[in-house]
Amino acid sequence: MARHRNVRGYNYDEDFEEDDMYGHSVEDDYCISPATAAQFIYSKRDRHSSFTEPLEEEEEEYVDEEPDKTKASNLTPLDQARLYSCLDHMREVLGESVSEKVMTDAVLQCQFDVAKALDLVFKQDGNEKAVPTNQDVSTTGRPAKGKSRGLPSVEVQNEVVPKIAKMTVSGKKQTMGFDIPSAASEVNGQNVPVLSKGQPMDEVLEEPESSRQSPTQGVSSQGSDDLNATPSQGRSAGKSKQKINVKDELEKRQGGKQLLNLVVIGHVDAGKSTLMGHLLYLLGHVNKRTMHKYEQESKKAGKASFAYAWVLDETGEERQRGVTMDVGMTKFETKSKVITLMDAPGHKDFIPNMITGAAQADVAILVVDASRGEFEAGFEAGGQTREHALLVRSLGVTQLAIAVNKMDQVNWQQERFQEVTSKLGHFLKQAGFKDSDVFYIPTSGLSGENLTKASQVPELTSWYKGRCLIDQIDSFKAPQRSVDKPFRFCVSDVFKDQGSGFCVTGKIEAGYVQVGDRMLAMPPNETCTVKGITLHDEAVDWAAAGDHVSLTLTGMDIIKINVGCVFCSPSEPIKACTRFRARVLIFNFDVPVTQGFPVIIHYQTVSEPATIRKLISVLHKSTGEVVKKKPKCLTKGMNAIIELQSQRPIAIELYKEFKELGRFMLRYSGSSIAAGVVTEIKE
Ligand code: GDP
Repeated sequence: MARHRNVRGYNYDEDFEEDDMYGHSVEDDYCISPATAAQFIYSKRDRHSSFTEPLEEEEEEYVDEEPDKTKASNLTPLDQARLYSCLDHMREVLGESVSEKVMTDAVLQCQFDVAKALDLVFKQDGNEKAVPTNQDVSTTGRPAKGKSRGLPSVEVQNEVVPKIAKMTVSGKKQTMGFDIPSAASEVNGQNVPVLSKGQPMDEVLEEPESSRQSPTQGVSSQGSDDLNATPSQGRSAGKSKQKINVKDELEKRQGGKQLLNLVVIGHVDAGKSTLMGHLLYLLGHVNKRTMHKYEQESKKAGKASFAYAWVLDETGEERQRGVTMDVGMTKFETKSKVITLMDAPGHKDFIPNMITGAAQADVAILVVDASRGEFEAGFEAGGQTREHALLVRSLGVTQLAIAVNKMDQVNWQQERFQEVTSKLGHFLKQAGFKDSDVFYIPTSGLSGENLTKASQVPELTSWYKGRCLIDQIDSFKAPQRSVDKPFRFCVSDVFKDQGSGFCVTGKIEAGYVQVGDRMLAMPPNETCTVKGITLHDEAVDWAAAGDHVSLTLTGMDIIKINVGCVFCSPSEPIKACTRFRARVLIFNFDVPVTQGFPVIIHYQTVSEPATIRKLISVLHKSTGEVVKKKPKCLTKGMNAIIELQSQRPIAIELYKEFKELGRFMLRYSGSSIAAGVVTEIKE
């Protein structure tokens, strides 16, 4: 389940403040804590010295204690280090049974070859068969008895099987492991354990950023988000790219299934998360064990009824508060479609997040609580049922399934169902939904009734013969993907991940992208290269309109990119402006809208403060003719042309050219006051 909620809103500045990780590559992360890295790298886990400590200090300490002082002190510092390293390893194998002198002699005689030195000692003892294997050593996890003496011997290498679970800035957990080094390499005549591909360990720990090799070297990524760790493997980065026939490829990739982006909306506590969590469980996306865990945990937290909601509400705060805050994203399949599900927050405070979810959706499920009083509370002024429905319609969603939920609470009464649907139907028509595109389904998210198969509850089956929820989702008409249009990608999240470069997530609104493509970001009007693409947690070579993807980018500074930036093809760029004209519809809003009115413009992932610079004209609602020029103010229900001035440049399109990027919402003081479409871009 790909969740982006952890990512957005995450204040990565805080992370950076602590370690100043900003701009660091993957090795930096390890460098920050060499002790931690060393802990994983070496079997001698209790060593207290690091590679960076001056060797001499330790030598002194060692020399004081050891009898074979002369032999060691006659050596060059480098050979001394090699000797101590060999002794350490031998000590691990032999324990205290052999004197330091015997071991030193053997090491020197065998020219620092630990294996040979060990053989020699065993031969001398006539105790050959007692030689423990390296495996034995590593699995005991026994602390080294000898003291730490700098570089470990090459023979330790087979013990190195570390796995480091790394939490990226985005909160995505990544598991990484070092390759098990298979051979030692000679660097400057010195045996140095190698992580892989000739990268010496001290280089990994100490080298300056500039001279660092690609993080892909020596690191084998085991997580699903491995694209940035191994972007070139099997991919076209750096190679001459082959143009693909996107339409054919899309057809192949989806196995004939169409792609559909679905947003779940509705008043807080209507049961959105429970409904969708239960649906996913019934579809087999959550295994029994995990579900059991959620049940136990939610019981423990005193919120037993939220167990299914926890499938989607993943963050601690969401669970604590029992509300969805950010937009969760999950993929599932129906008979004929691949669905990307977005679970939008119902709470008033998180409407901007909901707008982001809705802007990326093709169709919506509006969940309403059928319980007496509850439906009414959500539907009245101040409830989110109306606001959400209006928002999704204004953002381009035309097909709607209404889950009349918690029907178990009203004994599956037909009268209640009809009461709810008639009230809603009237309003939805006004909001611009066609009757033929609105479908009502009685459900119970808690009991799972009517979600994936027709209900068996007699109280319901006696009067309801329609589709269950999943069948309705399957029957939605999938929109045409604008793959032929110029590339447009709206950033919904920016985060530093492993490896060089950084990642952006979002939805491809139009066109397609291939690994190795150059892209232009607007704003800041700078180019970069796509190093990797992740779609539903899998690394892919290309992605096209409609896909929610993560792109790994290089050649640009992460600081330049914000949520709301639009990436486009450099040859057909999107315009960035601060002043544009639009046709707007004023919602049910009591305060008259005047010149200079401060608003927040919301579209796609953008949310930008602006002011209404001019009121140009009032239009006739149906004919669109100018009714009045230069009005003093705009009141509810009015259709008008206005000029907006944003504080910072925003990337926007004319509605007639690019619907998805030419449609916006205006909000003021926590309420949606108008929906609009861009008619003219000024500057
Ligand atoms: P959301 O805020 O819309 O996501 O609502 P939740 O899914 O968090 O549910 C809010 C509360 O309603 C929880 O206590 C759920 O257990 C409860 N609930 C959800 N669906 C149903 C249902 O179909 N029947 C009943 N009786 N309770 C439900």
